[in-house]
This record gives sequence, C-alpha cells and structure tokens, in this order.
Amino acid sequence: MEKTKKSLIEEEPFDKFSAESWLKSDLPDFEGTVIERGDDNYEKECYQYASSSYLEEGIIQPAYIIKAKNESDVIKAINYASDKKIAVAIRTGGHQYSGASSTNGNNIQLDLSQTYKDFTWDNEDCTSVTIGISFSLGEFNAKLREKNRFVPHGQCQSVNVGGHVQTGGYGQLARSFGLLADHVEKFRIITADGQARWVVRNFSQDKDLFFAVLGGSPGNFGVLTHITLKVFRDQDYPNSRGLRAVYPYNRQCVKALLDIMVEMTDENFPADYDYTITVLSEPKLHPGLETYDTKYDTKDAPRVYWPPVIIVFAQWANLEGDRQVYDPNFIGKIKQAGGDGQIQVDDDIYTPMSTLTGDWTFPIEREFKLPYVKRVYMSNSSAQRLKDYEWTDWVSGRIDNGNIWDSPDPMVQLTFDLSLSVQIQCYGGLNSRYFQNGKKNLTSFSWRDTNIVCVLDAFYNDAEYDRVREWQQENDKGVGNSDAPFCEYDRRVLWGSHDLDLSANQQYYYDQNPEEKYEKLCKVKQTYDPSGVFTPNRFCIGLPPADSEVDSEMQSKTKKAIEKEVLATKPKERPQLSAKERFWEVVNMKREPGGLIPLWDTWGTSFYNFQRLHDYFTH
Ligand SMILES: Cc1cc2nc3c(=O)[nH]c(=O)nc-3n(C[C@H](O)[C@H](O)[C@H](O)COP(=O)(O)OP(=O)(O)OC[C@H]3O[C@@H](n4cnc5c(N)ncnc54)[C@H](O)[C@@H]3O)c2cc1C
Repeated sequence: MEKTKKSLIEEEPFDKFSAESWLKSDLPDFEGTVIERGDDNYEKECYQYASSSYLEEGIIQPAYIIKAKNESDVIKAINYASDKKIAVAIRTGGHQYSGASSTNGNNIQLDLSQTYKDFTWDNEDCTSVTIGISFSLGEFNAKLREKNRFVPHGQCQSVNVGGHVQTGGYGQLARSFGLLADHVEKFRIITADGQARWVVRNFSQDKDLFFAVLGGSPGNFGVLTHITLKVFRDQDYPNSRGLRAVYPYNRQCVKALLDIMVEMTDENFPADYDYTITVLSEPKLHPGLETYDTKYDTKDAPRVYWPPVIIVFAQWANLEGDRQVYDPNFIGKIKQAGGDGQIQVDDDIYTPMSTLTGDWTFPIEREFKLPYVKRVYMSNSSAQRLKDYEWTDWVSGRIDNGNIWDSPDPMVQLTFDLSLSVQIQCYGGLNSRYFQNGKKNLTSFSWRDTNIVCVLDAFYNDAEYDRVREWQQENDKGVGNSDAPFCEYDRRVLWGSHDLDLSANQQYYYDQNPEEKYEKLCKVKQTYDPSGVFTPNRFCIGLPPADSEVDSEMQSKTKKAIEKEVLATKPKERPQLSAKERFWEVVNMKREPGGLIPLWDTWGTSFYNFQRLHDYFTH
C-alpha cells in the first residue's frame, strides 16, 4: 500500500512544541489533581508500562497530567486543549506498549484511572451490564463472577477497560466467544467538541463511529467513558472444562505442544476449544540493577519469580450446552505432550466458565521490571504451510535461543540470557468466533482470518541490549516474505504495538477488510476530531509518516547501548541446576515472608488479588 504523504487531519498539534510554556494559572480549575512537568512527584506520576522502554525517546513527558475527578474535569481538559491548540493523550490503565497513552511538548495527559467506576446491571437476568471504563480487568472479572457471568477479555488483570475494549480484548476465549469488543452493545464517548454521546451497535447513524472506536486507533476519536456489554451465564455452559498446567521448560516439550496447536488450525476444528501456550523465564542471575521500573513503579506487589516454565491454558466451552458430551481426547493430548508438571485446573471435572476466565488471568502488574523489545506476529498460514515450513521447530528454536539455558559460565549467562515472555495462541478455523464475529464488519479490528498469534517479548538488562536487538531481528525473519516460516505477511496488532509511528507502518496494522479501511478511519477522525485534539503523538492515525524511515526505536537504543559501558557487576557463583531441577526446586521451596513467590502461587481463589497475597506474606 502506498503511504499517505499528506496529513489526513487539518492540524498536527503534537508537532507544535513551541518554546512557549503554559502557565499553570492558565489552566481551568480542575477538581482532580494537576501535576506539572517539573513538580517533585512528576516522574512517579507519569510512570506507565512503557516508561521502562521509551524513556530516552522523550515521548512520555506530558506538560501536565490531569487526574480527572469527574466528568466536568474531562470536559474542561478537552475544551482547554481545543482552545490552546494542544492535544490530549488519554490514559486509563497506562498499559499501551509503545507509550501512546502519553505525550510530550505542550500537550496534556488526561488520567482516567479513577474517574469512571460505576457498575450497573441493566436487566434482572444480569445478561447486560453498563460499566465505567476505569475498571481493571481483575476488578471487572471479579464483579461478573459474583453473578456467575463472564465475557471474553485479555489475560493481564491490571489492564484497564478504557484502552482494552478499544484494542479488542484478545484472550483465552477468543475462539469460543470472540473479542471483548464483539460484545459491546453501545458505548459513551466525549468527542472533541466537548459533547458526550451514546453510540449504539447497528444503529445506522452511529455506524462509522462505532466501527472506528472499536479497533481503529484507541484514544484518537474521543474520551470513552462507559460501555454496555452483553455478558454470558455459566448455566448455559453446564459442562465446561479447563486445563491450567505448569511444566518445566524444555524445547522438545514446547515443540510437541505447538504441534498440537498446528493441528488445531484445521478449518473445521470445533469453536469450543481454546488453547494458549506461555513460556516465561528469567535468567538465573539477577544483576540487581536499579531500573526505571524499580525506581518509579510504586506498586509494592511482592516479587514474583519466573523460573523457566511452560504454562498451558486449554478450554472446552460446551457451547451447545446439555446436548454435548465432553470428549477428553484433545486436552488429553496436551497433557501427554506436557509430561510431568503441576496441574492446577484439571479438565477431569466441570469448572464454570466464569471461574475459568479468572483462571486465565495473570495476577501481576507486569512480567519483568526491565525494559523490553516487543513483537506480536499474526499468521493466517494454513496447518499445511506451517508444517511445510517446519514452523514449530523454528519457533521453539528461537525461544530456546533467547536463553543460554544452562551455561556453565555465569558471565555468559548474564550477557546472553533474556527474560522471555512468549505467548502463542490458536485463533483460527471457520468455526472460530473470532473469525465469525469479524465477518459482521461492525468493528474495525484487522486480521480476523488469523490462525495463530505469536508474542515474542524479551526483557533485558543493559548488558544484554545488543543481544535483545539481534534476537528480535532474527525473529522478524519469521514473517513478511514467501519463504518465512510463520507467515508470508507481516501483520501486527494495536494492542501489542512496537512501532512509534503508526502512519508510517499502517499497512502492518490495518487490513483491507473493508477496502481502504485506514482511509475510512481517517475520514471518521476528520469528522469527529478535525483539529487533532486527540492526536497527541505519532502513534495516531491520519498523520504523514515521519521523515526518518528507519526504526527510530532501534536507532536510539543502539546509540544508548554504545554510550553505556557494559555492565561490570560480578555475577555470583551459583550451583548449576538444569531447568527441570530448578522448576521442582521452586515448586517445593519453603515460602518465606517477603521472599520470592513463584508465579503459580499468585493464582487461585485464596491468592486471587494482590492485597490478600501481600497480607499473606507480610503478616
Ligand atoms: C502486561 C500486559 C498484558 C497484556 N495482555 C493483553 C491481553 O491478554 N490481551 C489483549 O488484548 N491486550 C493485552 N494487553 C494490551 C492492552 O490490553 C492494551 O494496551 C490496552 O489498550 C490497554 O488499556 P489501558 O487502559 O490499560 O492502557 P492505556 O495505555 O491507558 O490505554 C491504551 C490506549 O487506549 C487509549 N485509551 C485509554 N483509555 C481511554 C479512554 N477512556 N478513552 C479513549 N481512549 C482511551 C489510550 O490513549 C491508549 O492509546 C496487555 C498489555 C500489557 C502491558
């Protein structure tokens, strides 16, 4: 696709970083807190997930952070930005991977983390609910579970509904129920003119805005305040099953589990099944450096420990209710491939869907307190193509390469081991609801014909910077040409972005379904936000690509790596254990107050939320 040279919106507010500085006295009288660049608590307040990785790009430095107390604050902020011709970055949970919920220059950040927390059941049957967007997924999931209700959503409990619903809500129920956004009946949004409106699914007047907000480019069309969702009842899935198992890492096991996933991409595979493989690991040696995260992330959750493990989520949703009989064969194959591990949720017995949605949520704020280089690849390759190109062999090799698992040399370990967070999930097949829901074209999420999504994230310490770059560059060869083992095309998702300039990379994020989708979205933007109040950075639609063609993230990081001296920390000698030995060591380790907590101990009813977990280890 030819790149659009001209800006598709009238103005580019974020580019207007004039030397002129706004005086705080200029600001309207907000009821919520206002933090100004330069204030003592500024760095702590502007911390968000991407701070660890995009600090030097200077893209997470709003002139003011406005923590809106109520809707009046929100409208004042929008009107102020409009008058001053600056832009507003909207942040709810702050989880956007490339920092797009923040801004810099004279622009402001509107923090909605506490603004909209209302929750109302809309009918007696509790199948429709209206919620404010400031809920985290963990809180929202818990509220639904109180009534034995559920809806598909993503897997991180601290992600917030505000951004999550606009980027889709990709999660373990994707094949059986689709995306979170597929179940939105209507949403409430405040647009650049300061007006709030309800936008209703399938209502002709609202069609374009509904389409654009759900999937187009989060935060670019207005401030989302509430959503009304259709939710599901446990009782309609009376025999649902799930498997959550943790296995010690080894490459052959990853490959065997992936081979089963490839078989699952068969077009006729039933929609009841969902299957995700996660590989997590952190090096044996911790350099113990202070990072931006350890310094500024004030959340005092206990330190979760990630020995090299494979975590498997598999589920049978029992979509046809009583009429269906559970066949344990498919999940049985997974158990067999996993081998000797720890089964935490077993498909031998019925588990309600609402419980399973909690079981599929990782109860943590972030994977590792380190900077990251992220990749999400989506593939529409058939099972046959994946086999022909030996993808499972290739990708398990890439994961293995991310770590020098048992190097006898501690210095090698320190320089070459990356902390990995890998997640591979099946989405595909003609029966998949992810695919079926996409055919309605009510939302604008791209790549609905995806069979497998593969996330390869690496977190690194300074000594590993060159290594992480090389690792991801090699992974990139898995997509984007006719011989690539994963997919002929390079297809990316807004929720897992790693680019800083959206327009320059639009062909990776937007498909042609419907044709000229990106241009259509830009037209909606033009209608509702002609002067770019909601264009606070380059990861926004409608802008001309930046001058520099090269991956600016990589460029500046290389510079950083050259400038920094290689870490001089002397690693401690440790007994060398195999990955399997470490796994069982951790499974059996004595729990100490204030000590490390293995990931799986953070799960389950008794440990479900941080507070209880924290209390358990500190009292
Ligand atoms: C550790 C981790 C795990 C994740 N796991 C998953 C997963 O399993 N599945 C999945 O689908 N995604 C996942 N994500 C991605 C996440 O769902 C998206 O980045 C989501 O958009 C974050 O929403 P937020 O409100 O928490 O973040 P924010 O950074 O606040 O917002 C994200 C985007 O939405 C915009 N936005 C936020 N609130 C509003 C609002 N009220 N009105 C208008 N625009 C708004 C922002 O401007 C920004 O562009 C994960 C992210 C992280 C960091």
